[in-house]
Order: sequence, then structure tokens, then C-alpha cells
Amino acid sequence: FLAGKTALITGSTSGIGLAYAKALSAEGANIVINGFGDAEAIERERLALEALSGAKAVYSGHDLTKVDEIEAMMKEAAGAFGGVDILINNAGMQHVAPVEEFPIDKWNLIIALNLNSAFHTTRLAVPYMKAKKWGRVIQTASAHSMTASPFKSAYVTAKHGLFGFTKTIALELATFGVTANCISPGYVWTPLVENQIPDTMKARNMTREQVMNDVLLAGQPTKQFVTVDQVAAMALFLCRDEAANITGSNMMVDGGWTAQ
Ligand code: NAD
Repeated sequence: FLAGKTALITGSTSGIGLAYAKALSAEGANIVINGFGDAEAIERERLALEALSGAKAVYSGHDLTKVDEIEAMMKEAAGAFGGVDILINNAGMQHVAPVEEFPIDKWNLIIALNLNSAFHTTRLAVPYMKAKKWGRVIQTASAHSMTASPFKSAYVTAKHGLFGFTKTIALELATFGVTANCISPGYVWTPLVENQIPDTMKARNMTREQVMNDVLLAGQPTKQFVTVDQVAAMALFLCRDEAANITGSNMMVDGGWTAQ
């Protein structure tokens, strides 16, 4: 149902972003992927995306902590496909430290990537969406857009800000056929999460099962990790015409985390 549309997904070389790319490509959208990683692995993923539906996929590997590189990526997307119909701001990073020790460069990077980059991609994508009278802006926020955890000050600040930004643009774009929403996962089973397990087992002298249930899933009432496909399915729904009146919302996919 997305044939002829173009989706740009930031941070889509792995994890949740790659799952969005696969879901949207399978529905016929042209895709701009972005993110870091091994060049050959990224090229394999790009070709795999094109094989899903025959739609095109291009890679734009810019560093989205830098405004000039964001502008270059948006120019590449416009050059390849004319513009962006579906913008998914998904690239994100984390750093865990007490506020008085939080490294200033990490704070600035996290705010730049997790919050500011969404402003820059949005301001550059919106003129095309408005002209077409159709568009979707989707942010991967987090349960941390609604609630906090200690030692994650930059991340929680950025994700709360992302929801505020999203509500604002939802109002600005409401009469143009353009919706703006957050998707807020709890703990998602990605390599990022999986790779934390061995170290945590050692540090806390726990079994794999104890780390998963008593540490990672401690705050997630379903005691299940969210899957990347479950997050991608929500993005796909937000792109449907049936979702035209869902705007300024924060779609929680968090196993009940923020209901507590
Ligand atoms: P991931 O580390 O697997 O993916 C992050 C992506 O961002 C990668 O493609 C990476 O190359 C890219 N990236 C990193 N720095 C970049 C930069 N400077 N410029 C451009 N791209 C950059 O992580 P993920 O778990 O898939 O997370 C994706 C999003 O989901 C993030 O915004 C994260 O905050 C959010 N999220 C994740 C979870 C979780 O449990 N995994 C939960 C809630 C929210």
C-alpha cells in the first residue's frame, strides 16, 4: 500500500530501524537507509530491501549529530526520489552516568542525535509533505519519553523533548494531511540489548535468566522483550489511511512499563 511513496529512516542499519525499513519496503516504499556499520553488510541489507518488493533502496551514511551532514542526507534523498513522504527519526544513543559526572560531550551528542536531528530532518522534509498534502513523521521515542530512570539524564531529556516536538508539529501540520507521532518501546530485543547480558551476568553473578527477568525485564510487566517486528508493525499502521486521525500521539509498545 506504499508503492510510489518514499520513506527515510534514520539509524536503519541495525535493530529497530532496519525492521522499519524491511516492513515499509515490503509494502512497496522506496527507502533511504542511514546509519553506521560495515560497508559490505550495509550493501547486502540494501539489496535485500530491494528484493522485498522491487522498490528502490539507497544508503546515505551521514553522521546525524552534524547539521551539515543532515542537510546533505536530505539532499541525497530529494535527488534520488524527489522528497520524503514518510520520515522516521530513529537514530539514537545512550549513556549512563550520574548527573554530576555526566560527560559534557556525551550530553551534547545525545541531545544532538536523539532530539536535534529530528528537528532538522523534519524542517527539511515538511515542505514536500505539505505540497503533496500527505505525510507521516514518526519518531522512535521510548518509554523514557514518559517516565525516567536514574543515570540516563541526557536520554530521558531528549526523549521527553522529542514527544513535545512531535505534539507541536502535529498541530502545525494537522490540516495538511501530515501526521506526527511517537512510537515508544520498552525494552526491545536488539543486538544492543543482547550484548549487555554476558557482562551483566559477570558483574552481578547472575544466570542469563536472572539477568533477563530481574534486571532487564524488572520494570516490564509482560516479562517479555518487545520485538523489532512489533515496533515496525506500529509504524506500518501509522502510515495507513486508517491512521489519518492519529496525530500528536505517543504509541506505547512497552509491555505495560509506563502503566505502573
Ligand atoms: P541500534 O544501536 O541497534 O541502532 C541505532 C542506529 O543508529 C544504528 O543504525 C546506528 O548506526 C545509528 N546511529 C548511531 N549513531 C548515529 C549517528 N551519529 N548518525 C547516524 N546514525 C547513527 O539501536 P536500537 O535499539 O535499534 O535503537 C533505535 C532507536 O530505538 C533509538 O532511538 C533508541 O533510543 C530507541 N529505543 C530502543 C530501545 C531498545 O530497547 N532497544 C527501547 C526504546 C527506544
